[in-house]
Amino acid sequence: MTGTRSTRWPQGRYSALALLRGALGGHRHWGRAWRAAEPRPSYDVVIIGGGAHGLATAYYLASQHGIRNVAVVEKGWIGGGNTGRNTTIVRSNYRQAPLQRLLEHSLKLWEGLSDELNYNVMFSPRGALFLGHSDADMTRLAERGDSLRAMGIDAELMDVDAVRRLVPLLDFSPHARWPIQGGMIQHRGGTARHDAVAWGYARAADNLGVDVIENCEVTGFVREGDRVTGIATTRGTIAAGKVAICVAGNSGHVAGLAGLRLPIESHTLQAYVTEPVKPMIDTVIMSQSLHCYISQSDKGGIVAGGDPDGFPSYAQRGQPVRLEDAIAQAIALVPALSRLRMVRCWSGVTDMSFDGSPIIGDLPLRNLHINGGWCYGGFKATPGSGHLYAHHLATGQPHPIAAPFDLARFAQGRTIDEAGVGPMPQHR
Ligand SMILES: Cc1cc2nc3c(=O)[nH]c(=O)nc-3n(C[C@H](O)[C@H](O)[C@H](O)COP(=O)(O)OP(=O)(O)OC[C@H]3O[C@@H](n4cnc5c(N)ncnc54)[C@H](O)[C@@H]3O)c2cc1C
Repeated sequence: MTGTRSTRWPQGRYSALALLRGALGGHRHWGRAWRAAEPRPSYDVVIIGGGAHGLATAYYLASQHGIRNVAVVEKGWIGGGNTGRNTTIVRSNYRQAPLQRLLEHSLKLWEGLSDELNYNVMFSPRGALFLGHSDADMTRLAERGDSLRAMGIDAELMDVDAVRRLVPLLDFSPHARWPIQGGMIQHRGGTARHDAVAWGYARAADNLGVDVIENCEVTGFVREGDRVTGIATTRGTIAAGKVAICVAGNSGHVAGLAGLRLPIESHTLQAYVTEPVKPMIDTVIMSQSLHCYISQSDKGGIVAGGDPDGFPSYAQRGQPVRLEDAIAQAIALVPALSRLRMVRCWSGVTDMSFDGSPIIGDLPLRNLHINGGWCYGGFKATPGSGHLYAHHLATGQPHPIAAPFDLARFAQGRTIDEAGVGPMPQHR
């Protein structure tokens, strides 16, 4: 990918030299990472939602397309939605080819993101391992691995001994509740620091002139016939050439303010973290049979999650029974976790689309666009999602990688696979 076109960094470029200078001067020279922008009367593009997807979209609009008269409008604080609530897993080893292409595009951007943003997003390619618990699981993993490799995406099938060498703390005993037969790993997958991603994009976008406006809730749309011309907010009306919705679990509600109904339901998903311990798990462990995922944060806590609640809700609070399931599943896989104390649990509201895939593109009103439906897997897509959405907003055309993810597929009864998939695009 190309880097940013600006190197001015008025708030100061982060570097080893700047740190050294700060150490000598009592660290008094650091400015704000981004301005506390006030809303202006009009913008070329207004993005609703200051999660990492919205901020990434603003950054790529400015850096790749030169569109800098942009505002990101956030009802709370940036990164306070699902961006700051997820379990930070990043990978591209999905089953369907259009998702493989999209998430591989994203993974390649992750690989250079800290340098590009001049902000350490702590991308840690420690490997993302799927466990296989049965012959059927292993066959499915082998098939998926084959399709990934055919797309040029790394995938390695592992037998049980290889898995044991990688994660010796898994339960390999003959009485294990979920016996392990092997696994499939993507070595380039891993984790990233979620809030740093929001902060990094906010700082880089602000640096290019984007207004990041916090504590500003969108309460309605300004329309002329079937054309959207602006938004109503708790801090006044803002005119906009284009309005880009990017609000994850609030997609249905915000689209509803424009009189639209989306094929998206909002469901609560929980996660939890234990007290910090010395390094014990140095890869991401996932089991699709259990829908359980476990990793160890850089601070030492074991981070894990499980199933969504399974019914629509806007409550950022999950069912205790689901949390109990998630804990039981993690302990069944790694029995040593039973000795740890849980220090925090939380939940987010995810935007579950009806085919489990995102929607990137136009809505039925002119100048109104959507990026949502990421379900419980959108963090890994952040750079790719922002990059592709920015392309759409700037050019008025879907990027070829994003073309299968239009809203029209639901009305036409088309699957994302039916859009046709070309070869993996080459990065510049
Ligand atoms: C517990 C949990 C675990 C997860 N684990 C993973 C994982 O391991 N890997 C992965 O890839 N994905 C994971 N996800 C999914 C991932 O977090 C989301 O798909 C992704 O963060 C969505 O990013 P976003 O920027 O679109 O959303 P958000 O960060 O939610 O941003 C949307 C923003 O819009 C704002 N907003 C809403 N309504 C309005 C309004 N009316 N006006 C102004 N602003 C508004 C919100 O305040 C919010 O800040 C997980 C999600 C949860 C909840």
